[in-house]
Amino acid sequence: MPAFESVLYETPAPHIARIVMNRPEARNAQNYQLTYDLNAAFDHAAQDDEVKVIILAGSDPHFSAGHDLRGNGGKTHADYPVVGTWGGFALKGAEGFMANEEEIYLQMCRRWRNIPKPVIAQVQGKCIAGGLMLAWVCDLIVASEDAQFQDPVVAWAVPGVEYFAHPWEIGPRKAKELLFTGDWFSAAEMHRLGMVNQVVPREELAGSTLALAEKIAQKPSFGLKLAKEAVNQSVDAQGQWSAMQAVFSLHQLAHSHNLQVFGVPMDPSYQSVAQRPKE
Ligand code: ZN
Repeated sequence: MPAFESVLYETPAPHIARIVMNRPEARNAQNYQLTYDLNAAFDHAAQDDEVKVIILAGSDPHFSAGHDLRGNGGKTHADYPVVGTWGGFALKGAEGFMANEEEIYLQMCRRWRNIPKPVIAQVQGKCIAGGLMLAWVCDLIVASEDAQFQDPVVAWAVPGVEYFAHPWEIGPRKAKELLFTGDWFSAAEMHRLGMVNQVVPREELAGSTLALAEKIAQKPSFGLKLAKEAVNQSVDAQGQWSAMQAVFSLHQLAHSHNLQVFGVPMDPSYQSVAQRPKE
C-alpha cells in the first residue's frame, strides 16, 4: 500500500481505492504537498489494474477549505516532480504566478478529470472554492445533508476559482448567483441543480459512497472507461475545455491587476471592510 504525507490510500473493498485528503487540522486545505500527494495517489489507483472505481474523500470534519492561503511551509516547486511540460515558476511578475497556477490548479485538475476510471467525490461539511475544483473533477458527487458549497473569491476581485466549471456544473444563471453573492449553497440545492448525485445523512456518507462504488465496480472496466470518455468528450465538444482555458486568462488578469494595485494577488479591501467594526 503506498504511503503519502498528507493523503491516506485505502482499499475498503475489492476493486475500490479510497483516497483521503488527510490534513484535518487545516480542513484539508490544498498546499503543494497535498496536491502532489493527491496526484501520486490518483496515478497509483489509475495504474493498478485491480482498481475499478476510486473514491476521493476528506478527513472530518470538512471535505476541503480550498487552497491553503498560508503557503507551503517554505517548500517550492523544486521540492516536487513537476507534472506538466512548463516551467518558470520562480520568475517575477505574472509569468511565474501564471505558470504556478497552471501547474497546480488548472492542468492538475484537467489531469485528474481524465483518469480513465470512475471517481466519486465523498463530500461532507464545508467545500469551499478550491474544494469545489476537487469535487468537480470527480465523475459523481455524494454529499452528506450538512455539506455546503461556496466560491467566495469574487469578494477578492477574482472571477471564480481556476478550474472554471461553474456554468457547466450548475448552469449559467445559478453560477452567476454563486459567484456574485458568495453565498453558501446547500447539498439539497446542489442536488436540485444536478451538481450532486446523492444526498445522504452524515453517518451514512461513507457507506453510501462505498455501496455506489461497489455497484459501479461490477461493470467491465473498459465499458466504464469508454462511458466516462463518451460523456467527457461530449462536454469537451460543447466547448468546456476551451472555455476553461479562456477563463483562466481572465483569472490571471485578476491576479495581475491585484498585484499591481494592492501588492497581493487578491484584493484585500472587501475583507477589511467586512472586518471593520460596526458603527
Ligand atoms: Zn488563482
